Amino acid sequence: MAVKLPIYMDYHATTPVDPRVVEAMLPYFTEHFGNAASRNHPFGWEAEEAVDTARKQVADLIGANAKEIVFTSGATESDNLAIKGVAEMYREKGNHIITCVTEHKAVIDTCKRLEKEGYRVTYLPVQKDGLISLDDLRNAITDKTILMSIMTANNEIGVIQPIAEIGAIAKEKGILFHTDAVQAVGKVPFNVNDLKVDLAAMSAHKMYGPKGVGALYVRRRNPRVLLSPIIDGGGHERGMRSGTLNVPGIVGFGKAAELCRLEMEADTKHLSGLRDLLNERLQKGLDEIYINGSTEHRLPHNLNISFAYVEGESLLMGINDVAVSSGSACTSASLEPSYVLKALGAGDDLAHSSIRFGLGRWSTAEEVDYVANKLINVVTRLREMSPLYELAKEGVDLSTMQWEVH
Ligand SMILES: *Cc1c(COP(=O)(O)O)cnc(C)c1O
Repeated sequence: MAVKLPIYMDYHATTPVDPRVVEAMLPYFTEHFGNAASRNHPFGWEAEEAVDTARKQVADLIGANAKEIVFTSGATESDNLAIKGVAEMYREKGNHIITCVTEHKAVIDTCKRLEKEGYRVTYLPVQKDGLISLDDLRNAITDKTILMSIMTANNEIGVIQPIAEIGAIAKEKGILFHTDAVQAVGKVPFNVNDLKVDLAAMSAHKMYGPKGVGALYVRRRNPRVLLSPIIDGGGHERGMRSGTLNVPGIVGFGKAAELCRLEMEADTKHLSGLRDLLNERLQKGLDEIYINGSTEHRLPHNLNISFAYVEGESLLMGINDVAVSSGSACTSASLEPSYVLKALGAGDDLAHSSIRFGLGRWSTAEEVDYVANKLINVVTRLREMSPLYELAKEGVDLSTMQWEVH
């Protein structure tokens, strides 16, 4: 059976909205269009009730209380609110934040902004497998540390940090703990109490919900976390995030969360099976390919592989009917190698020639088969034209070769 092209294997970038989610959302654009803050008529009550249901659905997915969910425009805003909100609120207590070099830009750039305002930030390195060292974390703590922000699962390499251990350290030291949980929530078990997390960022469009809606989990007990808002206005969301609620979006987020909770086990089984199949096919068909990041502590639907001795752009062009992400990030002037892969110790070449495969709810074995065959063909063809690959195969140690520079 022929597969439908192009094939989508970029589920870490965004996911399609599940049709059941769309169905749940539709009435809230037209029939039930009320403003959830309108307290004096049924249009408002209906909207508020729908938001309450969604709040409970999102809370249930992460083992929280509905009152601990603050709806936002997405995880970028949630990360900003968590980090800036804590920084401003706890400034008296200290000005030091600990995060990690492989965080999403929503965290890194927020921390950079705070550095300009006089905060001190420690960016922990990662080990070869992409995980931080807990000793490094402990050693970074000072009596001025007010917040640790360490992501649960990485968006490029899918590695899952030791969140429960980090949470325990944070508790022991009385430091607040925020985690960017966007890639993990709805995909792997994530419970805010088991993990001792105080704040957690989530996004609907990474879990089969709509774009432009997300949430921040804010712990209310042991300890009660206080946040300075970054958006001022009508005092919505208990004053932490003003602005009229995106009711259809929130309803969709809630439904998506419920589906993830009910179907997580089945989804995981399906996806890890396909991911392992893809990996096996590639490993069998090609040599000199390297998995980036821990294979043990990893999301079930992620595979990130460097294909040595091929050039990144040619590789992507060769598989242009497959939607994936590469280890290159387009900056204004040039292609920069991924800072995440660089942090694992990958050289520029291996970073550029890497591909992130993100599988999802509608991925099929036929698609995996097509993508594996295509990659094996393209990489083999590109290597046939590569003098470097030939030399390496002849046993020449390329790292000791003298290059003539003109
Ligand atoms: C996508 C993503 C974000 C940003 O989420 P938006 O809702 O798109 O703003 C933040 N962190 C991680 C890890 C992500 O994958």
